[in-house]
Amino acid sequence: MDIKFWGVRGSIPHSLDTHGWAAHFEKIMFDFFRDGFSKPEEISKFIKSKSAADIGGYGTATTCVEVSDGGESIIIDGGSGIKSKSDQRDYNNKKEFHILISHFHFDHIMGLPFFTPHFLKGYKIHYYSVHAETEQIIRNLFKKPIFPVAFEGLGAEVFFHTIKAHQKNMINGFQVTPYQMDHPDLCYGFRVEKNNKVYAHAVDNEATRKSKTELGADAGLYENADLLYFDAQYDEDDMKIKKGWGHGTCDRGFEICTNFGLKQILFAHHDPAFSVEDSRQQKKKAGEIYKKKYSQLEIKWDFAYEGQVVKL
Ligand SMILES: [Zn+2]
Ligand SMILES: [Zn+2]
Repeated sequence: MDIKFWGVRGSIPHSLDTHGWAAHFEKIMFDFFRDGFSKPEEISKFIKSKSAADIGGYGTATTCVEVSDGGESIIIDGGSGIKSKSDQRDYNNKKEFHILISHFHFDHIMGLPFFTPHFLKGYKIHYYSVHAETEQIIRNLFKKPIFPVAFEGLGAEVFFHTIKAHQKNMINGFQVTPYQMDHPDLCYGFRVEKNNKVYAHAVDNEATRKSKTELGADAGLYENADLLYFDAQYDEDDMKIKKGWGHGTCDRGFEICTNFGLKQILFAHHDPAFSVEDSRQQKKKAGEIYKKKYSQLEIKWDFAYEGQVVKL
């Protein structure tokens, strides 16, 4: 099972401005010389010595994740990251797409009108959501005056499927089970399973419930997950003023890994205000928390970045 992260930022797409990128490149060039490199032909070696995100940043686009296996895939959410998926153009010769919708906050649906297959004859797009109002909300995205092409004028055939929380659904060969997140508006995470591999998708999630007892019927999301994709927009200091905003922290993610014996977690839904350096600092803080409280568990952890692919 391959999981590709087309968009990992929270709330709104955000890039550094021109001066911000110039400052970032200045820092990279400084590091090049500080690390003892001096020749143009050493640039590639220098870049490979860093993490991809240290050089290119963590990404600008909002939530869109694709889970693939055996040539088939499902897409989770249509944030602005789905535009990059759309730009693949040949779509690996696929003409049918399966999109799960977690909830309707704008960062999770804003890219949908820019997913080109909607406009192509002979294509089929299936939407799946626990929310009964999904069809109405998607139809309203393709409507004047906020978008020039009406839903009725789309080239593709579009289908809407209502699925139930805590029930297993077969979607394009994947077993998908929705579980409720801790979020101000009703939002669902998804457990995706195929060939004995489990991907647990848990954004947007404040994770006020972390133990099996607190989670009750929603504990199934985390059980035996090979990879947990987890909302860490904030840290515990932020939580003093951002309690109830619906986003989690690395600390909470590590605690869930502890409670469920999980070995791999990727933190995401990055704060839209963060520069590359801010994310690096946030990651450094997470590293200190991990070292202090959770290192005996040997959890593989990192911050997700746009374009990343994880193989399970
Ligand atoms: Zn969100
Ligand atoms: Zn949300």
